[in-house]
Amino acid sequence: MEKTLIIIKPCTIQRGLTGEIIRRFEKKGLQICGMKMMQLTDEILFEHYAHLTQKPFFKRIKNSMMATPVIVCCLKGIDAVRIVRTMTGVTNGRDAAPGTIRGDYSVSVQENIIHASDSAETAAIELKRFFNKNEIFDYKQNQLSYLYANDEI
Ligand code: UDP
Ligand code: MG
Repeated sequence: MEKTLIIIKPCTIQRGLTGEIIRRFEKKGLQICGMKMMQLTDEILFEHYAHLTQKPFFKRIKNSMMATPVIVCCLKGIDAVRIVRTMTGVTNGRDAAPGTIRGDYSVSVQENIIHASDSAETAAIELKRFFNKNEIFDYKQNQLSYLYANDEI
């Protein structure tokens, strides 16, 4: 089973959409293995958005991500990284397909509801960045045999 990270961004918290977003992943069948609220800092965002630090709008993104605390979640399932990215939709909410989270709740490139890890390698690094080991819980998912065929798990 794969684990991935999502970050509920400040725009989502301010708009009161946190529950709706978490609900989508729960309904899909992904297991919540970790969840906490935290205030992001300059340091963690420099690391997390290292690929954007040279962009002229980096400060704007950083401010947006620090506007309120965020909620970080660890979601688990077979192919969880791919499932979550597909459910999230493309970066620009105006281009994201209806039915995706960004397509349904965002009209912005920046204020696009959640962050989602983009590969298994990135997910492992990002989960370590935002969670301590004892904040990720491995517990039995009771519905497992109704979510998957027995040769899938
Ligand atoms: N972002 C932005 N303008 C851009 C590109 C990115 O405001 O031109 C913001 C946006 O919030 C995005 C985040 O920076 O979610 C990280 O960018 P990335 O390219 O990694 O997109 P993602 O993986 O979130 O789709
Ligand atoms: Mg990204």
